[in-house]
Amino acid sequence: MRSILPARRRALLAAAGLCLSAVFGAAHAAEPLKAVASFSILGDIVREVGGSDVSLTTLVGPDGDAHEYEPTPGDAKKLSAARVLFVNGLDFETWLPKLTKASGFAGQTVVASQGVTPRKFAGHGDAGKHDDHDHDHDHGHDHKDGHHHHGDADPHAWQNLANGVIYARNVAEGLAGADPARADNYRQRATAYIAKLQALDANAKKMFAAIPAERRKVVTSHDAFGYFGDAYGVTFISAMGVSTDAEPSAGEVAAIIEQVKRERVPAVFVENITSPKLVQQIARETGAKVGGTLYSDALSKPGQPGATYLEMFEWNVRQLAAALQP
Ligand SMILES: [Zn+2]
Repeated sequence: MRSILPARRRALLAAAGLCLSAVFGAAHAAEPLKAVASFSILGDIVREVGGSDVSLTTLVGPDGDAHEYEPTPGDAKKLSAARVLFVNGLDFETWLPKLTKASGFAGQTVVASQGVTPRKFAGHGDAGKHDDHDHDHDHGHDHKDGHHHHGDADPHAWQNLANGVIYARNVAEGLAGADPARADNYRQRATAYIAKLQALDANAKKMFAAIPAERRKVVTSHDAFGYFGDAYGVTFISAMGVSTDAEPSAGEVAAIIEQVKRERVPAVFVENITSPKLVQQIARETGAKVGGTLYSDALSKPGQPGATYLEMFEWNVRQLAAALQP
């Protein structure tokens, strides 16, 4: 009989222990998964698919140039605390391997472009034949600082919404793999999001198909719209080539100006991540109109027209279609 009290106390303690572990278990399950995305467009896709189940940090923010990014010590700290890292791949984030190493990141890396059919760079001005003689200087440079060369894979795969669908699926599977308890949430959000991407894709194709083919030509500053051009039937002539920091030579600029005149390119566009000067010069010297700003490699800041992947894409489609309309 004397053992009853201690036994009851033991039972109470055991029950209390169960309670505590249940509480902590629930708290753990409800805690958002820590994830990092390398740049703003991919970050938005992770935000759409991850919802409130994910606590997200994006390294290269709105209007930022991910080709030329310098990681900070703060970035290494954020990455060391993350369970999943989402990257574009296709050699876009050349600064990332050093950062992941420095941070001691021990989580999973998900390559969002996995499964995309890579497009090869043809070099700037590939719509014309004027530059056959002057792009040889590109060969043999070091592959660093965001410079790309003929034959390299073009990293800007998000500029085709069909690839955006692949990104969203990869993000959902990456999140599901890192956080199986909430896999259904990720997959459900991805399905709803993909339907929106596909609807916009169909709309964009319809809008460009209604524009005469010979008018579907534009100049942009860097070579970021190759996938867009292939998907929607628009020829993009880039003034700077594929890097965002290189100044084209006077001869290269003259050749582009000649091409714009010869092919009667209706419009030139500036980009949110590059200086507008060169493109404005081309507009002045050719009479092509400046069609506005396109979002190439980064979202806009909140409250501006390209604050999400869907919004930036729709904005680009509308700006281009309006400028090319006869
Ligand atoms: Zn780019």
